[in-house]
Amino acid sequence: MSTLSKGAALITGASSGIGAIYAQRLARRGHDLILVARSRDKLDTLARRISDETGRSVEVIPADLSDKADLARIEEVLRNDQSIGVLVNNAGLGATAPLLSSDIGKMEEMLALNVNALMRLTYAAAPGFVARGRGTIINISSIVAIGPEVLNGVYGGSKAFVLAFSQSLHHELSEKGVTVQAVLPGATATDFWGVAGTPLEHLPAEIVMSAEDMVDAALAGLDQGELVTIPALPDLADWQAYEAARQKMLPNLSRTLPADRYKVVSKAA
Ligand code: NAP
Repeated sequence: MSTLSKGAALITGASSGIGAIYAQRLARRGHDLILVARSRDKLDTLARRISDETGRSVEVIPADLSDKADLARIEEVLRNDQSIGVLVNNAGLGATAPLLSSDIGKMEEMLALNVNALMRLTYAAAPGFVARGRGTIINISSIVAIGPEVLNGVYGGSKAFVLAFSQSLHHELSEKGVTVQAVLPGATATDFWGVAGTPLEHLPAEIVMSAEDMVDAALAGLDQGELVTIPALPDLADWQAYEAARQKMLPNLSRTLPADRYKVVSKAA
């Protein structure tokens, strides 16, 4: 059975790719939907298809989440609509160009969407979820969160933010009834790649997952109570060892004296 709290799901970046599949899957699980993206036509078409198929109510709110006024409108919805029980922070932009050939304006646009919008929408939703003692926040990160060498570094940094922010949210909110999940997809067959600057056809087929399989695995991970879901990773023990190494370091990362290897003769000694 689904561990999702029922209630409407607000999904950003729902007009295509991963977000559109979340919309369909969450409606099939019994959630009403609020779909957000810039392309009204695509959202309207999807909304009609999903409500015909599932009978769920599907509302569409066109918004550019890198625009402050548009973002504020969606924050208002999250603050005021008490029927919302699920926030899927999915809208995001990527880049494949290395630092020296990247446009700084485009990098800033990417951070506004991948980091700032996700952060503000979470701040808008979380207090209501805590007050009602239930709610689910699904944040779409990426494997580049732990492999920033793979694509553009600003993109990797933005997705590392999403992972770290999700871990912190889980730490603060899990005992208040809020479920948090960070999803780390590998290459997924969507428009993302064309927008990011590398056509999907240029990727080796064996590293690319369908958006349907990716979302179904992510929702299975959510049902299994995972804070972090990496749909493609064959052996969960690999993630658990990585996470255990991080936890082991935590008590030793802040101390009075520098480590012996730096051979500092401390004035504090
Ligand atoms: P996609 O098909 O290009 O979808 C991106 C979605 O975000 C679209 O619905 C787009 O709709 C929306 N969007 C873009 N800019 C927006 C803005 N300024 N305001 C509001 N909505 C905006 O790509 P996708 O693969 O499904 O990407 C979804 C998420 O998955 C992203 O966060 C991406 O970083 C992450 N991800 C993707 C992959 C992959 O290989 N595909 C891998 C790891 C992580 P409009 O154009 O209509 O606004």
